[in-house]
Amino acid sequence: MIVVKSAAELAKMRAAGRIVATILARLEEMVRPGVTSAELDRYAEQECLRQGATPAFKGYGGFPFAICASPNDRVVHGFPDRRPLAEGDILSIDFGVLYQGYYGDAAVTVPVGRIDAGTSRLVDATRESLRQAIAKAVPGGRLSDISHAVQGWVEPLGFSVVREFVGHGIGRQLHEAPQLPNFGAPGQGPRLKPGMTLAIEPMINAGTPGVKILEDGWTAVTQDGKRSAHFEHTVAITEHGPEILTRV
Ligand code: MG
Repeated sequence: MIVVKSAAELAKMRAAGRIVATILARLEEMVRPGVTSAELDRYAEQECLRQGATPAFKGYGGFPFAICASPNDRVVHGFPDRRPLAEGDILSIDFGVLYQGYYGDAAVTVPVGRIDAGTSRLVDATRESLRQAIAKAVPGGRLSDISHAVQGWVEPLGFSVVREFVGHGIGRQLHEAPQLPNFGAPGQGPRLKPGMTLAIEPMINAGTPGVKILEDGWTAVTQDGKRSAHFEHTVAITEHGPEILTRV
């Protein structure tokens, strides 16, 4: 069942989303050659607690960190580590909080210094696919219109959509119904209504769509070793259209 949120609940989700957005924006500024994702993780956790929120991922299903840090061929759910980021890398940072009973969840893929043109195209296409997907989060539309917007944007550009991981409803739970694939024909699935809140999160590969999980049991990497990008926002469907909750 898809939980429709009241105005009071949306206000709380807006507050949670603002915390996610401010911390992610600061993490994005911190990314440069020589910085480690472990440093980013430490900042995110401390700042989250300072703002009175709880890191949403730490302890979720046993995940051990506040952020997911997924560089280069890492798709999602990577562990922060002490490897210094290098010029030309990309780093996907996924971060969520629980605040006053409600979750916010967002992700960005950040270039480390200068990146090559092909990687830049991948990152830009993934960011744009999220923008187009969000534009479909409107009352009267269907859930798979959002899915189709992602696939319809990235595949003509030569990129591929990860199948194993999907977006999700969000609210009092980090992962609520419905599941939201980033592929599929439009015009299917539940009809979208004001008060629905979705974490929309395209995960896009430069090469083939296949992924595998590393021995840590979490980190998803591309099977072909090519790069992958990920952007995510928590979005509310309102009478006036989509409202991005994870925005500063
Ligand atoms: Mg998510």
